[in-house]
Amino acid sequence: MIYLDYQATTPVAPDVAKAMHPWLEDRFANPHSPSRWGREAEAAIEVARSQVDKATGLKGGQIAFTGSATEAINWALKGTIENAPKGRNRIITVATEHAAVLDSCEWLAERGVDLTVLPVDPEGRLDIDLLARELDKRVLLVAVMQVNNEIGVTQPISEIADMAHDAGALMLCDAVQAFGRLDLCKGPDLVAISAHKIHGPKGIGALWMKKGAEPAPFIHGGGQERGLRSGTLSPELCVGFGAAAKLAEERANRDYDHVQKLWGAAVKALGPGWIINGSVDHRYKGNLNIRREGVDAARLLADLRDIAFSLGSACASGSGRPSHVLRALGLDYRESRSSIRLGFGRYTKQHELVDACKRIAAVAHAQEKLDA
Ligand code: PLP
Repeated sequence: MIYLDYQATTPVAPDVAKAMHPWLEDRFANPHSPSRWGREAEAAIEVARSQVDKATGLKGGQIAFTGSATEAINWALKGTIENAPKGRNRIITVATEHAAVLDSCEWLAERGVDLTVLPVDPEGRLDIDLLARELDKRVLLVAVMQVNNEIGVTQPISEIADMAHDAGALMLCDAVQAFGRLDLCKGPDLVAISAHKIHGPKGIGALWMKKGAEPAPFIHGGGQERGLRSGTLSPELCVGFGAAAKLAEERANRDYDHVQKLWGAAVKALGPGWIINGSVDHRYKGNLNIRREGVDAARLLADLRDIAFSLGSACASGSGRPSHVLRALGLDYRESRSSIRLGFGRYTKQHELVDACKRIAAVAHAQEKLDA
């Protein structure tokens, strides 16, 4: 199988699996118990916490581990609303955000929060002037992602954070697709990240919180994460996240250059007739979302079962619904149904990617001929 679905998840790095292993076997103690073994597990978690914190490159805040980035985003949104000062009851977000943001915002809107969802331009970029016009003193939080999971398009996060702060609002950034791949933008007060997108294990994410911007607790219980989040932490998952973050930081330039080369090779191998969805200039290049007139993407996927690629986000692929992100770019139903996403990164071999792209192009071409 050729794996081209790096936005859905990434292969666990061998060094990460190795680091996790002892904590799955004999070093199984509860990290919150006072025994010597418990203390050792707790110390390993603290090392992992500082590795993740350091890899973010962000200053003046702290990391809280969560069960996923979805949880981190739910917590950030709902816990910030919980702490809202009187008169600030408005959230601004963007139409191309991940479901974790959009669905949480909708849930809050059903409970009285004033929600504004801004459109994007045909390149997938937020119009900053539009945001400026919307910001007023009722806005509590602005939520914008750094890299889009479906189309790879980036947003000017630091500029948006400055604008939010000037209006007295906080900013949440979903940095799940950016962390470990690009430098994280400075400025947001709350940043959600996930281990399994950076060659770490599934089932662990984190919320980076600027000092003073900590949301109210969302999951109640033992208060294990400094009273802010409850639940026994998993030493193996935390250690895996820490090792993955450290590796991503050490390999940042190498991984970035590799991805740039892969992008060039993929575009060349696909040949003419494909249109890139979303901005080419403002983009993480490990995400190649493309469409082609007359192609049935679902059939393409079925015809090429030994290549793992997708129709958009893993969630959208399963639902059969056209992607809300492609719709936000202005694509019609047919254009969305002829779009595919190829995602590649650290462990993708160039010759495999080229082979896959040539086969995708050949099958697409055959479809066109058949349907002509
Ligand atoms: N945000 C973005 C942009 C994502 O791509 C994902 C995962 O697909 C998430 C949030 C949710 O992350 P997790 O799988 O850790 O819940």
